[in-house]
Amino acid sequence: MQQSRSKQRIRYAVVGLGHLAQVAVLPAFRNAPNSELVAIVSGDREKRKKLAKKYALEHAYSYEQYERALSEVDAVYLVLPNHLHREYAVRAATAGIHVLCEKPMAVTEEECEAMIEAADTHTVKLMIAYRLHFEKANLEAIRLVKSGTLGNARIFDSVFSQQVVANNVRVNQPVEKGGGPVYDMGIYCINAARYLFRAEPTAVLACSANDGEQRFQGVDEMTSAIMRFSDERLAMFTCSFGASDVSRFTLTGTKGSLTAEPAYDYSIPLKHRLTVGERVSTRNFSKRDQFAAELIYFSDCILQNKEPEPSGWEGLADVRIVRAIYKSAKAGKVIELADFPAKKKPTMQQEIHRPAHGKPQVVNAEPPSGK
Ligand code: NDP
Repeated sequence: MQQSRSKQRIRYAVVGLGHLAQVAVLPAFRNAPNSELVAIVSGDREKRKKLAKKYALEHAYSYEQYERALSEVDAVYLVLPNHLHREYAVRAATAGIHVLCEKPMAVTEEECEAMIEAADTHTVKLMIAYRLHFEKANLEAIRLVKSGTLGNARIFDSVFSQQVVANNVRVNQPVEKGGGPVYDMGIYCINAARYLFRAEPTAVLACSANDGEQRFQGVDEMTSAIMRFSDERLAMFTCSFGASDVSRFTLTGTKGSLTAEPAYDYSIPLKHRLTVGERVSTRNFSKRDQFAAELIYFSDCILQNKEPEPSGWEGLADVRIVRAIYKSAKAGKVIELADFPAKKKPTMQQEIHRPAHGKPQVVNAEPPSGK
């Protein structure tokens, strides 16, 4: 294992300088005292030059120089398109470098397993960047369910949608390469159902739709899925690249219900509406730097030699469900899921609050909506 060069701060390279890296990941280092940004890796010369200057970095590498970047750092934060996660994670782990990888972990179960094996073999930490596992509104929803306030949680339903423009990687990579709304957005609904029900689904049934626009040639426009959980519980969601912005889940129990809306975002405050009998209460959760929270948590795992809670297994648990959903939509039938080993789930103890930062100017990058 690569020894951390500093006992207190983990040195990172951020790999792939697209929209998320520029608006959320790079600025988060200023908010994460145990994490230091020392290198960037990008295929775009202008980004390398401008962002190295902006963040006062000595090291800015192309993808051809990835191994050189690895020799400068303790950890990488991979913010690449989904089909590249496995390759860059395995290369980092093989070089003894810890890996923080954006969701979805990878495109297939085999890719996820290769990443877990590489991290195990080379004794490095692997964490999937599930930022909501450190965020108060989602952790508070988990606490409410566990407290019994809603009675027995029976139904999870969710819509997560946005308009995605034609040239975005989410639609210009086919589903087989990690494009499409289930890998990108549905994964939040899947993950939320799993952390709220605190179980793994046993079967899925899904249906996709597509209005035939040019931008949806290689991917589904939208997909709806029903996931069956143990104890006769159901979770359903619709995720879409062709509808206006909605980010909502409702968890309905035998005594009450909780609606989170917005539920999944990082750039706006989140909100709860709790209904128990006649009583309705609302609660706002201020916008915060969810990416600094992830960096602080992951660096601490490296420094303290602790296993990250959103581990490779957590990433694999979602990817296998995404794959079963697409299989079900294609076959038009229920897909049964094999048992999956129970792993740690997020709890309130994982909350990390860092203040929000302003919106930085970006270089040659666009949000998924193009706006
Ligand atoms: P972008 O398309 O904006 O950025 C991806 C970047 O990857 C590109 O700008 C490019 O950077 C680099 N890249 C390298 N090879 C390729 C290639 N073959 N095709 C396209 N890009 C390439 O995507 P996002 O930043 O929106 O998403 C990146 C990752 O982050 C995805 O895995 C996504 O799921 C995840 N994500 C997570 C979010 C969260 O809230 N946790 C929110 C948004 C995204 P360069 O020019 O520097 O080489």
